Amino acid sequence: MEGEGSPISEEDLKKEICKTIRRLFNRRLISCLGGNVSARLPGHSEFWVTPSGLFKGGLKPRDLVKVNLDCKVIEGSLKPSIETPIHAAIYRRRADVNAIVHAHNPITTALTIAGVEMRPITAEAAMIIGEVKVIPWAPPGSEKLANIVGEYIGGAKALVLMKHGVIGVGSNLFEAEAVAEALEENAMALLIMSLLKKGAP
Ligand SMILES: [Zn+2]
Repeated sequence: MEGEGSPISEEDLKKEICKTIRRLFNRRLISCLGGNVSARLPGHSEFWVTPSGLFKGGLKPRDLVKVNLDCKVIEGSLKPSIETPIHAAIYRRRADVNAIVHAHNPITTALTIAGVEMRPITAEAAMIIGEVKVIPWAPPGSEKLANIVGEYIGGAKALVLMKHGVIGVGSNLFEAEAVAEALEENAMALLIMSLLKKGAP
């Protein structure tokens, strides 16, 4: 966390990005090719992002790509994630954000499509995710999606992309990952609540 030994080195940051996306894969919040993670050192504008088209459970620091806020590649030989414009749109507007997690949370996504409001139902969820904004549908990787995310992000920590997935942001990777995971835990609780109501006389 920021303040806990930060600022960390760029190499440490890259290792943490790889660990973060591996955990998301292991927790089934992303598939082998879906989802992406980025992070930057505090006070820096350029950020490191996961590459497009590689198995997300086994990324290495050398696979990551460094880009600037115009999505121009500064370092790295692979193609940056197709959702890099979303990450840039958020970093441009939020100096407090140093990490972004985009996952394909299955339960959160399904419930949102079904019209269930993603309200935080526990004190912990309220603290970690706060108000959840739902982004109207736009094709993945499109400029339109990046523009809408830029319009909606405001001071939010959690966004749900309609028919697509979630975005968690934080001052470091730990915080951003916690948002994506808390969203899914909260969605699971909402699902159980709705099942119990259906089963009640
Ligand atoms: Zn996606």
